[in-house]
Amino acid sequence: MNYNSLCEFINSTFINQAEIIPNADMKRFTSFRIGGAADLAVFPKTKECLVAILDYVIKNKIKHIVIGNGSNVLFCDRGYNGVVIITTQMKNYTFNGDVLLCDAGAPLTQIAVNAVRSGYKGYAFACGIPGSIGGAVFMNAGAYEGQVSDILLYSEYYNTKTGQICRMEASEHEFDYRHSSYMDSDKIILSAAFKLEKAEDVNECVALMEEHIKARKEKQPLEYPSAGSVFKRYPGYFTAKLIDEAGLKGYCLGDAQVSEKHAGFIINRGNATADEVCELIEIIKDAIYKRVGINIECEVRYID
Ligand SMILES: Cc1cc2nc3c(=O)[nH]c(=O)nc-3n(C[C@H](O)[C@H](O)[C@H](O)COP(=O)(O)OP(=O)(O)OC[C@H]3O[C@@H](n4cnc5c(N)ncnc54)[C@H](O)[C@@H]3O)c2cc1C
Repeated sequence: MNYNSLCEFINSTFINQAEIIPNADMKRFTSFRIGGAADLAVFPKTKECLVAILDYVIKNKIKHIVIGNGSNVLFCDRGYNGVVIITTQMKNYTFNGDVLLCDAGAPLTQIAVNAVRSGYKGYAFACGIPGSIGGAVFMNAGAYEGQVSDILLYSEYYNTKTGQICRMEASEHEFDYRHSSYMDSDKIILSAAFKLEKAEDVNECVALMEEHIKARKEKQPLEYPSAGSVFKRYPGYFTAKLIDEAGLKGYCLGDAQVSEKHAGFIINRGNATADEVCELIEIIKDAIYKRVGINIECEVRYID
C-alpha cells in the first residue's frame, strides 16, 4: 500500500495539525513496549483533522485503527499493515463551570489529579490509570470502586458509517464493568464531558487520591512495561489470586512474565514478544479453567 497521497492530503489540508511517522515501531507507542511496525502512524492534533483522516482512510478502504495512549493494547509482532491513528496530541481539556471538557487524547491521570486538587469529587479512582480520555470512555476504565461511567456526562463521536458527528449521553453508553457500547461499534470518540461537583472536604479527596497512588506503587509492577491487569475480574473471584494459586506467579515465557508482585499483570522484562504474551495468556486461562472451571476473559486488546 502506498500512503503518499494520504500524507500529501494531511500535509496540504492540515498544515502543522498532524504528525506523521512512517514505519512506526509500535513498541514506542504502547505501555507494553511490544509490537512490530505500523505502516504509518498519524497523530492528529485537532478533532477536525482526526475526522478528515478517518474520512480519507474509510473512502480509500485503508486499514486503520484509532488508539489513545496504548496502555491496554498488544500489537502483533509482525506489525500492522495499515494506519494507526494515535490521539495523544489531541490533549486539550478545560474546566468550564460544572463541566470538564476533554479531547479524546487528553491524559486521564493528569486531568483526574487536577480535578481532585481543584476540589472536585469522584476523580480519585482515575489517578494512576495511564490512559487517554477516549481509551478510558471506550473501556469504562475504573479502579477502587470508581469508574468512568460514574462521572461522565456525555461523549462526542464520529460515526464512521454515516459520516456524522453526534453526541451520546452517559446513559446511552450501555456501560458495564470494563464495557461501553463503543466496543461494539464503528464510532470514534472525539471528546468527552464530565461532571464537576465540589467536594465537601477537599483534603479527604486528596488523601484518597494519595492512598490510591501509594497502593498502586506498592502492589503493581510499575517498574516494568505492561498493559495493566491482563484479565477482567470474574464475578466472585480475584483473578490475580487464582493465577497465584495455579502456581503461575513469576512464570516466564521468554521475557514475558507473570508478575511476581501482582499475578494479574504480565510484564515485559525487556524483549518480550506479543506471541509470548499470547501464549502465556492461554496457559493462564487453561490452568484456571482446569482448577476452578471458569473461563476468564482478557481485558487487553490484541491488534493485528
Ligand atoms: C500500569 C497500568 C495500570 C492500569 N490500571 C488500570 C486500572 O486501574 N483500571 C483500568 O480500567 N485500566 C487500567 N489500565 C489499562 C488502561 O490504562 C485503561 O484501560 C485505559 O483506559 C486505556 O486507555 P488508552 O488511551 O491507553 O487506550 P488504548 O490502549 O490506546 O486503547 C484501548 C482500546 O480503546 C480504543 N480507543 C482508544 N481511543 C479511542 C477513541 N478515541 N475512539 C474509539 N476507540 C478508542 C482502542 O482502539 C483500543 O481498542 C492500566 C494499564 C497500565 C499499563
